Amino acid sequence: MKRLIVAALAMLSFGGAASAQAPAAQLPFVLKQVGPGVYAAIDGPEHKAGSNAGFVIGDDGVLVVDSFINVDAARALVGEIHRLTPKPIRYVVNTHYHLDHTGGDQALRDAGAIIIAHKNVRGWLRVNNVNLFGDRITPDIRARIAALPLPDVVTDKDFTVWLGSRKVVVQTVLGHTGGDLTIFVPDAHVLFTGDMLWRKIPPNLIDGSVREWLATDEDFIHMPDSAQATYVPGHGDVASEKDVRDFGTYLLDLRRLVTAGRQAKLKDDALTAYVEPKLKALHPDWTISGRAAAAEVRFMDQELAGTKRRPVPLQD
Ligand SMILES: [Zn+2]
Repeated sequence: MKRLIVAALAMLSFGGAASAQAPAAQLPFVLKQVGPGVYAAIDGPEHKAGSNAGFVIGDDGVLVVDSFINVDAARALVGEIHRLTPKPIRYVVNTHYHLDHTGGDQALRDAGAIIIAHKNVRGWLRVNNVNLFGDRITPDIRARIAALPLPDVVTDKDFTVWLGSRKVVVQTVLGHTGGDLTIFVPDAHVLFTGDMLWRKIPPNLIDGSVREWLATDEDFIHMPDSAQATYVPGHGDVASEKDVRDFGTYLLDLRRLVTAGRQAKLKDDALTAYVEPKLKALHPDWTISGRAAAAEVRFMDQELAGTKRRPVPLQD
């Protein structure tokens, strides 16, 4: 979460720095081809994009996955798409409501895209995003959240988008917010997971259920041809089946360690002090900040105690 906030604050102060005309070296993301006409846009080392995104080029148009944390980063993505293909940008699918994945939606809409999201996103987008920032919310961020465009098409079921003859499957998944979608490109064996998968970085559990999340993680591992599959996570570099298994192991380790600490009657800082070094030792190649570890332990503790608060679906 700290990274998200830092990235958001950085982007606000650097607003306008990135543009579609920026040379590749200045893009806030790294574009990686992960299949024929399928690209992952991986957040750069300075985290100016705030998260990963991507896109699929079909016969007659382009489907974009997520829009980064602000319109500057999203405009840079639109520029890269236009550089690669003259085909129109027809859709952007938001994997969930968090600002680091929806903050650039207006730039995609301006480029001609219909915004697609889980049905819960419409109710949460302009309300629950404020919670992500806690006491670090600023009037600027508040205003940006209040002005986010609402999705045009919403779903609580799986469906297929045909880009001409190219099939793209949008699936509803549980675990991260209660309103998440994944995007699968069967002919390229590419799954855009949104924040259902993080590679070597602790996931943001603020809205999550680790119990549900682990079940979805199992589904990813058992999807057809998973050994050949490429997974584009919400944060971290392009991933393989091995990374999906590693992520599942991390969640299991977190739950097991917090459970053990709770059984030893540890609370708050003492619980974090018990879990953090063990978690880091088990995952030495992960980047786990002290702040992230404290948040992971707090949210896992709440889930085990049955006091975890998750976003509640609103009526239409
Ligand atoms: Zn994210």
